[in-house]
Amino acid sequence: MKYNVFKSKSMGDISISGLGMGCMRLPVIVPGEEDIDYKRAEEVIDRAYSGGVNYYDTAIGYHDKGSEPFVGQALGKYPRDSFYLATKLSAWFLDEGRGVEDIFKWQQERLKTDYFDFYLCHNLNDHVYSELKKADAYNRLSNLKKKGRIKNLGFSFHGSLELLDELISKYEWDFAQIQFNYLDTQFGSAMKEYEMLRRAGIPIAVMEPVRGGSLSDLCDDANKLLKSKRPNESISSWAIRYAASFDGVFTVLSGMSNIEQVEDNISTMSDFKPLTGEEKSLLSKAAACFKEFYTIPCTDCRYCMDVCPNAVNTPKLLKIYRGWKLDKNISEYTKHYSSLDSAEKAEECSGCGVCVEKCPQSIKIPELLKEIAELNKSLDLK
Ligand code: SF4
Ligand code: SF4
Repeated sequence: MKYNVFKSKSMGDISISGLGMGCMRLPVIVPGEEDIDYKRAEEVIDRAYSGGVNYYDTAIGYHDKGSEPFVGQALGKYPRDSFYLATKLSAWFLDEGRGVEDIFKWQQERLKTDYFDFYLCHNLNDHVYSELKKADAYNRLSNLKKKGRIKNLGFSFHGSLELLDELISKYEWDFAQIQFNYLDTQFGSAMKEYEMLRRAGIPIAVMEPVRGGSLSDLCDDANKLLKSKRPNESISSWAIRYAASFDGVFTVLSGMSNIEQVEDNISTMSDFKPLTGEEKSLLSKAAACFKEFYTIPCTDCRYCMDVCPNAVNTPKLLKIYRGWKLDKNISEYTKHYSSLDSAEKAEECSGCGVCVEKCPQSIKIPELLKEIAELNKSLDLK
């Protein structure tokens, strides 16, 4: 395993695995639902641990609030000082009447720990930032840090460059977590975010290196291009290597959902080779080719589902719709759409829009769901 030195003000120099375990896409009992399959998920954690992964990242809302208690149990059998644990303050749980310290205490109980090695303000965008400011979150978390309950304080980010600039200039952070992959650096603002954090000397944890799985299988032409260079390596391995090749990135979080993904990622990071110049330009060609096909950037995080007053299954609908946009295959589309429960369908969306501010990818969800409903009408599909 590749390890990186993280210079922590409170812990000294610590060695963190270049591959981190993201605990938001663990194996589930029923595909498409949230309940964790404890046995399979524990196998995933155990294999990651035995393969040298020592960084585990979770959050309150992952798996419909099931991830933290699971991670607490799964890691509980290992010495607490043999791994680094990261979790987050999610502003939307403040709405439930809990204060910052109450939420923190609740997380300590759920994760069976006195302290968190890494603690983040979750999913910062303009709305979340203003909620956290109202709750005086930064000062309260800084107090917990002074008491040794938080070792390193950071934030995960899904906002504008202006907001990032404000966060960097107004507060002191030990690290930051950004969405960083070869699609978002080439076509989004990820490279600018990376450069701003580097200039400020803030170490970076990468999230969504495989963009919710969408960079694990590109379009045929892009796949062929990458396979021509490294026939025995997975398409995902390119995304992991890409993110891990950047200076200042101390871990690359992968939301591993099965043992095969864990093995593939461990093998990529155990015999780590940074991308060569030639590979970088090949990847950039593959990304350009894939971009033509990749029109809806949903990463399947399911935050929109946490707030939907109906039971609309937006991530599944967008996945099916993306498939339609790629090949316009009516029978495939009909088959997938008909497999949804009626409550999950696009027609159930009232257009209330509360999901939009929760979406880290700023997807115009109600507009897309309306498009899907119109498509269904034109196909006479109920
Ligand atoms: S806009 Fe539609 S999908 Fe979004 S929260 Fe409202 S009902 Fe749910
Ligand atoms: S639509 Fe947005 S919030 Fe919903 S699952 Fe996709 S990326 Fe996440």
